[in-house]
Amino acid sequence: MAGKRDYYDVLGVSKDASEAELKKAYRKLSKQYHPDINQEEGAEEKFKEVTEAYEVLSDQQKRAAYDQYGHASTDPNFGGGGFGGGFGGFGGGGYSTGGFGDFEDIFSTFFGGGGGASRNPNAPRRGADLQYRIKVTFDEAIAGKETTIRYNRKTECATCHGSGAKEGTEPVTCSKCSGRGAVNVEQNTPFGRVMTQTVCDVCQGTGKEIKEKCETCHGSGITEEAHSVKVKVPAGVEDNQQMRLSGQGEAGTNGGPYGDLYIVFEVEESDLFDREGTEIFYELPISFAQAALGDEVLVPTVSGKVKLKIPAGAQTGTTFRMRGKGAPSVNGNRIGDQHVTVKVITPNKLSSRERELFEELAKESGADIKEQQDKGFFGKMKDMFD
Ligand SMILES: [Zn+2]
Ligand SMILES: [Zn+2]
Repeated sequence: MAGKRDYYDVLGVSKDASEAELKKAYRKLSKQYHPDINQEEGAEEKFKEVTEAYEVLSDQQKRAAYDQYGHASTDPNFGGGGFGGGFGGFGGGGYSTGGFGDFEDIFSTFFGGGGGASRNPNAPRRGADLQYRIKVTFDEAIAGKETTIRYNRKTECATCHGSGAKEGTEPVTCSKCSGRGAVNVEQNTPFGRVMTQTVCDVCQGTGKEIKEKCETCHGSGITEEAHSVKVKVPAGVEDNQQMRLSGQGEAGTNGGPYGDLYIVFEVEESDLFDREGTEIFYELPISFAQAALGDEVLVPTVSGKVKLKIPAGAQTGTTFRMRGKGAPSVNGNRIGDQHVTVKVITPNKLSSRERELFEELAKESGADIKEQQDKGFFGKMKDMFD
């Protein structure tokens, strides 16, 4: 994946480009490099690059994932979760492996037993998605780290390979429903007698009856296993960002695929720094003398202590930018800055020597401050009209 160009650069648009701008840029470039039109060497590669960039950026979910995780988000092993925090994306489909299982799950929950009769009970169904929250310290979130997580998940029973039948036996066609999974029942309703279909109570809709149950899973075909996964916490990860690990959720049924695992990162706050995305904020206390005379001080940053020059005459609230001393973006595209805000500390206890010096100083510099104070509000108004 190294050497891959930034999708926004490929299309020559800004990071906040609108859909219309993306489309326009794509039309222009795809025409320019279309292999039917452009016979130059490398044109086809360019065309492919442009198409790939547009495919990702024109899809809102993919674009959000790319903005967060960069090219890693398009790697099938990575997953490409991370829809801006929260779980809005869950039911939305759009995952390559997620499509069908989700809907069926919702369907069967919603309709209780009745709905199950109309679909094939033996169709493969995808396993459930799981969520795992990982606590990350402030420093770990900046530097990234590798960790292994352990959790229990449902897995196909190793003894019966998911059939639920005792070793050496097979499930047979259900004697009550003849394999249909559903039976007809007559019900008395205010509208008269109605014939309805309901899930077969012998086979629970599977159409198969297990005469002798597997001793390991007691017929369910599913057991629970302790499972561990290596997780790469990306450098620059932010609180509440999430990552999808495909196939690390629970086992599917009837040979359906495993669900996915969603990792949610919980990033601890720092005592020293505030962080907004890639930008780090730090408040630096300085003395009167340092403010007045200027100084060179060592300032903590997320990457260690760095010298900062404070010019003479610095005021409380003055902010200095330390370029490249912030947090990395989670997609690895850039490193933010550290913003240092100066706070001049007024001493609340003075030694007699200090008092002497301040009194001396007051005589020297008090006059122009006094003048400014006397001028006050009306003085400022007067200045404005003069
Ligand atoms: Zn079993
Ligand atoms: Zn049955």
